[in-house]
Amino acid sequence: MATPRQRLQQQLAAPLPADPQLVLVTDLDGTLLGGSLAWRRRVYGWLQRRREQVLHVFCTGRDLRSIARLLEQDAEHGLVAPHLVIGDVGCTVACGHSLEPVPLAVEPIDRLWVGKPERLLPLLDGVAGLSPQPLSSDRRLAYYYDPEIFAHDLVDELEAHGVDCLFSDNRYLDLLPAGINKGSTLLALLELLDFDRARVVTAGDTLNDLAMFETGLAGVMVGNAEPALMAELPRLPGTYRARASGCEGIVEGLRHFGYGALLEDL
Ligand SMILES: [Mg+2]
Repeated sequence: MATPRQRLQQQLAAPLPADPQLVLVTDLDGTLLGGSLAWRRRVYGWLQRRREQVLHVFCTGRDLRSIARLLEQDAEHGLVAPHLVIGDVGCTVACGHSLEPVPLAVEPIDRLWVGKPERLLPLLDGVAGLSPQPLSSDRRLAYYYDPEIFAHDLVDELEAHGVDCLFSDNRYLDLLPAGINKGSTLLALLELLDFDRARVVTAGDTLNDLAMFETGLAGVMVGNAEPALMAELPRLPGTYRARASGCEGIVEGLRHFGYGALLEDL
């Protein structure tokens, strides 16, 4: 009888490290893609060299197509595919190598999304201060919103249909199946992987990363975090607030959490 981790591995195009010392879960924009180019190159090179010791997970609002484009563009800076991807703000899980969705992780989210677009789209059509994001994602609706114009009383009406409205970075509004976010999907994935939670570190910079910090896993809020996220810090005991931005902030956080030895070849 296969374990959940073995079943997950069967659905991936490349093997996961057998016994990683660290599971590093990074948001992209403003976090792994943030900071100076020199720091980004250093961190990307380190991730490449440490592939067997560091299991790397992207955890992003981007959809799979946008992640594929990014990996192509940023290869010149040394960015390599992670082992796993959590995309669409927690609504998609994919193999980092092939960017193919992982059925074991995605099917439970799919079931929560059945019938939702049909009910929600008519309510969202023509609403002032909303425009659809040009994304090709499943299990989620993504909009730009204008905080000055968008009428927030619509939120209750939308959420009554079994979704969560997630506002982020003062411009993004995501409608996600109720209870699904970066944090819930990360915890479900860790359950499948059956790794020691004490070896997990997350990193992020905007409100859609809050759910990751709320898991209680070790977290790094990078220096360039949005003010609304920073305001949550007092109730996030597992989260370290870095002074440095983006990639440099991730490294600062890893040192804080005791991973200095792993960083010696950075
Ligand atoms: Mg971000």
